[in-house]
Amino acid sequence: MLIEHYDLDVFTPPCSPGAERFSAIARLTADISEVLPYLNATLRGAIYYRAANALTWKKGGHNLAFHAYQIATSNVEDYDAAVKEIDGLIKLINRTWERRSEITPDTETHQRPGLMAVYKLLPQTNCKQCGEPTCYSFAIKLTVSQKKLADCPPLAEPQHAEKLAALQDLVSDAPAIG
Ligand code: SF4
Repeated sequence: MLIEHYDLDVFTPPCSPGAERFSAIARLTADISEVLPYLNATLRGAIYYRAANALTWKKGGHNLAFHAYQIATSNVEDYDAAVKEIDGLIKLINRTWERRSEITPDTETHQRPGLMAVYKLLPQTNCKQCGEPTCYSFAIKLTVSQKKLADCPPLAEPQHAEKLAALQDLVSDAPAIG
């Protein structure tokens, strides 16, 4: 197990004094630098900055940042929510580290696909089958990995096959892990 202990700080972001949501930083006793390229290879939408030895990722409305000895998350409700979020991330890191022999590490920096490029490839019917009010709002969530292509049923129809293939190239070059 790579991470066994951490200390947690939960605080109001300095730019939003009085905010009702909090940020949290877990300070680690283990250096997680070596696991970052494996996370980069497996977390869809992650961005790895090799020179800075850091990786960022958006998940479930949280902006996450992984550094050598710390993990930070934004937008948590309270201390308990912060513990739950950080515990989940630590399990993810430990599980990825244990599986590293099955993963090809990736040290490239992959930018997120452009919002308009993604939107233009969607059916643009605003049918709401994805649970979003418009294709544009679906595109926003797709680019930050809060939705999957499979959440848009019309994309599976034959007339959208070419657009689906293009979208798979744009948003699925680093498949998410469970
Ligand atoms: S299911 Fe697809 S086509 Fe329908 S609104 Fe959502 S993104 Fe648009």
